[in-house]
Amino acid sequence: MEFKDEIARRRTFGIISHPDAGKTTLTEKLLLFGGAIQEAGAVKSNKIKKSATSDFMEIERQRGISVATSVLAFIYQNKKINILDTPGHKDFAEDTFRTLTAVDSVIVVIDVAKGVEEQTEKLVEVCRMRNIPMIVFINKLDREGKDAFDLLDEVEQKLGLQVTPLSFPIGMGYDFQGIYNVFEKNINLFSGQSKQSIEDTIAIDDLNSPELEKLIGETAAESLRDNLELVEGVYPAFDKEAYLAGEQQPVFFGSALNNFGVRELLDCFIQIAPPPRAKAAEERVVESDEKKFSGFVFKIHANMDPKHRDRLAFIKIVSGTFERNTPYLHVRHDKKLKFSSPNAFFAEKKEIVDISYPGDIVGLHDTGNFKIGDTLTEGEKLNYKGIPSFSPEHFRYINNADPMKAKQLNKGIDQLMDEGVAQLFTLELNGRKVIGTVGALQYEVIQYRLEHEYGAKCTYENFPVHKACWVEDTGENPEEFAEFKRIKQKFLARDKAGQLVFLADSSFSLQMTQQKYPSVKLHFTSEFA
Ligand code: GDP
Repeated sequence: MEFKDEIARRRTFGIISHPDAGKTTLTEKLLLFGGAIQEAGAVKSNKIKKSATSDFMEIERQRGISVATSVLAFIYQNKKINILDTPGHKDFAEDTFRTLTAVDSVIVVIDVAKGVEEQTEKLVEVCRMRNIPMIVFINKLDREGKDAFDLLDEVEQKLGLQVTPLSFPIGMGYDFQGIYNVFEKNINLFSGQSKQSIEDTIAIDDLNSPELEKLIGETAAESLRDNLELVEGVYPAFDKEAYLAGEQQPVFFGSALNNFGVRELLDCFIQIAPPPRAKAAEERVVESDEKKFSGFVFKIHANMDPKHRDRLAFIKIVSGTFERNTPYLHVRHDKKLKFSSPNAFFAEKKEIVDISYPGDIVGLHDTGNFKIGDTLTEGEKLNYKGIPSFSPEHFRYINNADPMKAKQLNKGIDQLMDEGVAQLFTLELNGRKVIGTVGALQYEVIQYRLEHEYGAKCTYENFPVHKACWVEDTGENPEEFAEFKRIKQKFLARDKAGQLVFLADSSFSLQMTQQKYPSVKLHFTSEFA
């Protein structure tokens, strides 16, 4: 197959949802269609049970599953589909944000009864900012839920999307009869069996035909006609270009558990979802069909086996082909590296591959060369833009609890930060280290892993910070900047990249600081150039 055809047949995407909306179930049904797994139950849920947050076994179990489900690839209708796993637990939200730098599109799963939930809002916002094409799947139609129109409204209002339903439910919950597929113009009747094949759908050329009454009964037929009329009147027609530009989001309804509405979703997805897209580097935009290889690290998975300090760096290929045993430039280190056993991922296994194409993910064994955001190329000095760091929500001093193991502790902290587990801030005043995280669970993960993988012990101490703000010296008023640095010294730190950060202890002091030093710009993310 030609290089161009290989690119054109790839679909790399992520499924995002609030926990429990049905992401794992949907993933599993997609894999069943792709023939990648034989039975339900094969995909393990990577969610963390609430009751088990302080159970270290649970953390390890979660890490094990997380590596196994990082990328689930399968072939469907000759398309190579790569599903990238996105943890739903909010303490791992940053992991998900980073994964979103590597997807070309997403499917958003929403629970019909719960509607738009907190985690969905955050994740969709990141996708919206990056104009990632999104398809919405409204799940659990076999249960009583919100009215379809109310729900579509909610999706538009809360998520700021412009939706257009490509399927529409006939009834819901106890009265759920099936789905009218606006995209294909046919009806799929719900039988409650978890097997769905193409023959189950019934083509409906004319919605006014009495056939419809025979199929679903008079009342349902009438209300379906009314609803579809309303859909046509209220929502714009599907526009593929608008979808690809992130300006319109098609909506499907179904029940992942019953494997219902999933085939429609998948068939539409492979038709409309984008193949690997161009990506912006700081230097220029790189097209996927450029011949020279380039890619970037979006995830690092470390030390699954504590005896071998080995890490797996996940690279998304942006352009060209990645080949085994070929030297590539590690741009940040300005040195060439080659890889003898790059891994490719399939639904149930990983294996060594000789060649990978744009859109694919390869896992590279690494002994500490990589950190998240690193770029690999065939020689050109490119730096792909990642997701900036956001202010963490929790801050604690980290102290060494075993003076004999200071080196191990520092190395451990360093590597865990490269992996993106948390953010490190070093205080300007005294060099003390402060760890910032999105969720309290991360502190336990760090403590546990420092001990088990690096042989180091740590304790934490509270450090009340309201927000971390990245400081920009505008150069407008050098005297004012010097004074700001002197007066606020106690609250200044450096992040891991050496950028100056102001750790405001309250929203009041943040406000006062901004008023007092107007020429010093405070930013809530690390990227502001
Ligand atoms: P995740 O946290 O988003 O990965 O959600 P899961 O896929 O683990 O699903 C959460 C729960 O909802 C599980 O108990 C599923 O069996 C259930 N579930 C998923 N899809 C459906 C559906 O279509 N109908 C019903 N009734 N339950 C579902």
